Amino acid sequence: YNDNLMSPLDASKLIIQKTTTPNEKLANDKLVFGKTFTDHMLEIEWTAENGWGTPTISPYHKLTLDPSTIVLHYAFELFEGMKAYRDTDNNIRTFRGDKNMIRMNKSADRICLPTFEGEQLQQLIDKLLVLDESFVPKGQGYSLYLRPTLIGTSESLGVSVPDRALLFVIASPVGPYYGTGFKPVSLEATDYAVRAWPGGVGDKKLGANYAPCVKPQLEAAKRGYQQNLWLFGDEGYITEVGTMNVFFVFKTEDGKNELVTAPLDGTILEGVTRDSVLELAKDKLPSDQWIISERKFTIKDVAEKAAKGELIEAFGAGTAAVVSPIKSIGWKDQEINVPLAAGDSGELTKQIAEWIRQIQYGEVEYKNWSRV
Ligand code: PMP
Repeated sequence: YNDNLMSPLDASKLIIQKTTTPNEKLANDKLVFGKTFTDHMLEIEWTAENGWGTPTISPYHKLTLDPSTIVLHYAFELFEGMKAYRDTDNNIRTFRGDKNMIRMNKSADRICLPTFEGEQLQQLIDKLLVLDESFVPKGQGYSLYLRPTLIGTSESLGVSVPDRALLFVIASPVGPYYGTGFKPVSLEATDYAVRAWPGGVGDKKLGANYAPCVKPQLEAAKRGYQQNLWLFGDEGYITEVGTMNVFFVFKTEDGKNELVTAPLDGTILEGVTRDSVLELAKDKLPSDQWIISERKFTIKDVAEKAAKGELIEAFGAGTAAVVSPIKSIGWKDQEINVPLAAGDSGELTKQIAEWIRQIQYGEVEYKNWSRV
């Protein structure tokens, strides 16, 4: 957070303009991810001359942008994804939003958009949640998806540092990723297209990272796979899966279990769920039986472990699904099958999903991860 701005982001200046035409709330079974939104949105303009302007919450509306606006040409855009949950006492809770604020500032800094104090934006998001609380659906697995976004709004075709920006937050009620039980996914190990590379921006949540990943997913789908397992380099290092971080469980030579995920070396996104999985695993799994590793490993390692019966389970981790069990990986002409010891997932996958769910819905208090 860099505060050499004229005026820092200040939540206490918020102006609220309420809608006079509230939207109808959809029944839980009609919710489709990211298709419907709450009655209000939050906006804060920034200019190089004056810094952050007055935060406003107003009825959800379209943006008006000049065709020359810099975001439309050079992708000065970044976003976050986080969720608010309704607990059984009807409190609305967000999960580890402070981590999203830190990541959002890192993304902003990387593309010369203005940074801000994360706690101020969290307080503004809290205000939006209070106003639109009736849109936070009830029920296990239901939540309100929050999309903080920051765009450069300078009107100029010059490739340069934006002197204007707009931060906005919209919110979409969403259902559980899995209706009933888990649905384990099949992956295609992808090496012909590369999601991120050393020195690149794959560790930032820039919109520009996402558009190029859709075509490889279509290609994988044509061959019958649901997601890409993104590999890097001639060695075939495993980085991420689709838009999630990825974890494997291996049996080690001395009979222990190893939970392993790729390290934060700049080629993977610093997932909030990834961090939560690592912290919970270190805290809760018996350390004489479990090794928790952030290290490089390759698709070849996975194939070898599978061949020896030492591949125990694998899952993706991200805000949308929390965890997403993996059932198979197509690699070259090989099909690597991943055991599903708990039916639709591995045992640890199921356990972790439950640990995180209990914290998100306020059933268990843990390290201040849940904010009412
Ligand atoms: N990797 C990528 C590329 C992502 O887009 C996401 C989703 N934000 C993740 C990992 C998971 O991050 P998080 O747990 O913070 O949702």
